[in-house]
Amino acid sequence: MPVSDFEAVIGLEVHCQLRTKSKAFCACPVVFGAPPNTAVCPVCLGYPGVLPVANREMVSLAMRVALATGCTIEETSVFARKNYFYPDLPKGYQISQYDRPLATHGTLAVRANGSVKNVRLNRIHLEEDAGKSMHEFSWEDVPTGSSLVDLNRSGTPLIEIVTEPDLSSADEAHETLVQLRRLVRWVDASDGNMEEGSLRCDANVSVRPKGAAALGTKVEIKNLNSFAHVKKAIEHEIERQVASLEAGTALRQETRLFEPATGSTKTMRSKEEAMDYRYFPDPDLGVLVVDGAWKRDVAAAMPELPEARAGRLQAAYGLPAADAELVCLSRPLADFYEAAVASHPKNPKAIANWVLSELLARMSDADRHAGRLPVAPEALAALVARIDDGSISGKMAKELLADLIATGRSVDDLVKEKGLVQISDEGPIRDAVERVVRDHPEQVATYRGGKAATFGWFVGQVMKALQGKGNPGVVNRLLRDALDKD
Ligand code: ADP
Ligand code: ZN
Ligand code: MG
Repeated sequence: MPVSDFEAVIGLEVHCQLRTKSKAFCACPVVFGAPPNTAVCPVCLGYPGVLPVANREMVSLAMRVALATGCTIEETSVFARKNYFYPDLPKGYQISQYDRPLATHGTLAVRANGSVKNVRLNRIHLEEDAGKSMHEFSWEDVPTGSSLVDLNRSGTPLIEIVTEPDLSSADEAHETLVQLRRLVRWVDASDGNMEEGSLRCDANVSVRPKGAAALGTKVEIKNLNSFAHVKKAIEHEIERQVASLEAGTALRQETRLFEPATGSTKTMRSKEEAMDYRYFPDPDLGVLVVDGAWKRDVAAAMPELPEARAGRLQAAYGLPAADAELVCLSRPLADFYEAAVASHPKNPKAIANWVLSELLARMSDADRHAGRLPVAPEALAALVARIDDGSISGKMAKELLADLIATGRSVDDLVKEKGLVQISDEGPIRDAVERVVRDHPEQVATYRGGKAATFGWFVGQVMKALQGKGNPGVVNRLLRDALDKD
């Protein structure tokens, strides 16, 4: 069968670190980059006989994500022990949730390839992170080839968001992750930073003959620590599976590791089954009860969600859907936009254009999400207001923006200092037009002979005569009058 006769089926398991001050079941601080084993206590070191206590803020943050994705928050859920051995897990088990997760059955609207797909979420459950094994370090007194364990991360609160196998391409998977990251940041549940590991994704991939009802054998890919890797790994894995089936080799269910250096995946282990972990309810933690009052408190503190906000911006300010969606790339960006519009309410579309072109281009992804904008909303509003009242041109405004960013001074100050005053008066513009027309009879004849394309040349001449300060609208109008009148 040719490649086009297969379709891919993908489901994601996304781990997201919750933005709490302290760990999931003890009072240790959650820190990143501290010296190894300095943020630990008997509970997160896994000493015997200690008692974990669930962090209430962790549950509240998870509930925010659940509400943002339309999940049902279960009144009772259960912490379970997932038993396995690994050097970075001294307890011998991870506290997680298994058959009774905190939240179930949500959806996420994912835009990819020009359409919107409602990706179903199977569940959102709480769990703790493990520590970290370190294989590379530069301490002289530790022989090379050793591995060390840092337990600072042990006990850090996570949610795992599990999608149904509803995705059918690497692009859709990538976009799902982008949407999830925006959402967890939007509701302040997580910093969503993939580079620092606060967002991690495993991708489950299978292929099947197009239109088949049954799912194919799935492979779980681990170690996807950037958006680019997620896409690359899934693309590669789909190709590998199709090639294997075409060659008549059956696939086996397994866990594979993505190798960034080669862009391919390799076998890590054959797939473990749930029973291998011998899950059972953690007797130290009992049942997690979320009552109506707690749910109402969390719901009351929720911000307007991105889709609703984009819809409102569209309706309130007459923005095109695509602009509204982009302005809602992050909550601080949407806040900036609305503050700028409040300061110059007459032209919301122009402000959107400036935000989406000039400002976004000057910001990294981290800037966009942290709300580090290069200028104050009032300054951008003042700039657009000056264009709108005809006192400066769009071109001058672009130059001014650079100065605004560099100096932080006011638009009016800069306009005055640079003598950037646009000429909109018809008198001097008409003089310039007449002079250009009089001095270039040949070009005028060419234009009138049907070469409409030479019009731009005349605009250039008039602008030159006005030292670039002519109002382009007025220049165009008067020039047309002069050239077309006979
Ligand atoms: P497991 O029991 O192996 O953990 P689950 O049914 O819990 O499998 O699903 C884990 C993840 O794998 C989910 O994101 C789910 O959508 C996805 N998944 C399940 N079956 C398939 C399949 N055949 N192809 C692709 N993804 C799948
Ligand atoms: Zn601790
Ligand atoms: Mg499972």
